[in-house]
Amino acid sequence: MKEKLFAGRRVFVTGGASGIGRSIVAAFRNEDAQVAFCDIQEEEGRCVSEETGSEFLQADVSDEKSLTEVFTGLLKQWGDIDILINNVGISCFSPLIETSVNDFDRILSVNVRPVFIISRLWAIHRSVSCERYGRIINISSTRYRMSEPGNEGYAASKGAIVSLTHALAMSLADSRITVNCISPGWIETGDYSLLTPEDHLQHPSRRVGVPDDIARACLFLADEKNDFINGQNFVIDGGMTRKMIYT
Ligand code: NAD
Repeated sequence: MKEKLFAGRRVFVTGGASGIGRSIVAAFRNEDAQVAFCDIQEEEGRCVSEETGSEFLQADVSDEKSLTEVFTGLLKQWGDIDILINNVGISCFSPLIETSVNDFDRILSVNVRPVFIISRLWAIHRSVSCERYGRIINISSTRYRMSEPGNEGYAASKGAIVSLTHALAMSLADSRITVNCISPGWIETGDYSLLTPEDHLQHPSRRVGVPDDIARACLFLADEKNDFINGQNFVIDGGMTRKMIYT
């Protein structure tokens, strides 16, 4: 039997208990990778762990100490990791004048700061090892370049992720870690059957996205052969951000 693409690879996903993260965990497990993920949701985390044969580590990514313990513990347990997927993201929208500075800080501390914290820890680890393969895949959003009123914190956090992606790609070059970013459009993580024909038909691809659309892109970017793709952002949105919308 042919060996699967990611057999023996060690993968860490943030926010793997539901939605897109859960699909990413399952996709890498299907390719025989060893997968660990963190999440704040304990029950859902345990469920995904059992269903997929992955390891669940409960942690709030905005808590530097807890995130550091989880990640360094994993590095110790596995020796190293190969693929890091920074997926956690919260989206809180509120009118600008009703959004406090604390609200703004909170969204950045969940969406952006953990990307820096874990990538830095991995860089420190790699500075004394001679591994020749590594992948970081960050999950941004098409809102890094499009907005509606009241999404200042989310838009700023997603723009920061796109910029962190190319910055990290330069800093991690000697560690042979490529760093890329995916910006999803509408990915339905709830009940797909409740979507209307209008929801689907407005997309040039004529359908709303599903979590597996993003998981497949992660597999592609993580492929060892694809190391010439580096520092990039991939918009996966069924063509919505290419659509002329003036009426
Ligand atoms: P989701 O809410 O379904 O899943 C996010 C997961 O992260 C959840 O399991 C949640 O418990 C976990 N999480 C939240 N805060 C956490 C914290 N502080 N510490 C640890 N875990 C935490 O979201 P999703 O729709 O699957 O989104 C995943 C990523 O994709 C996010 O970065 C999001 O911004 C991005 N995205 C999603 C869409 C979409 O349409 N679904 C579109 C664009 C971008």
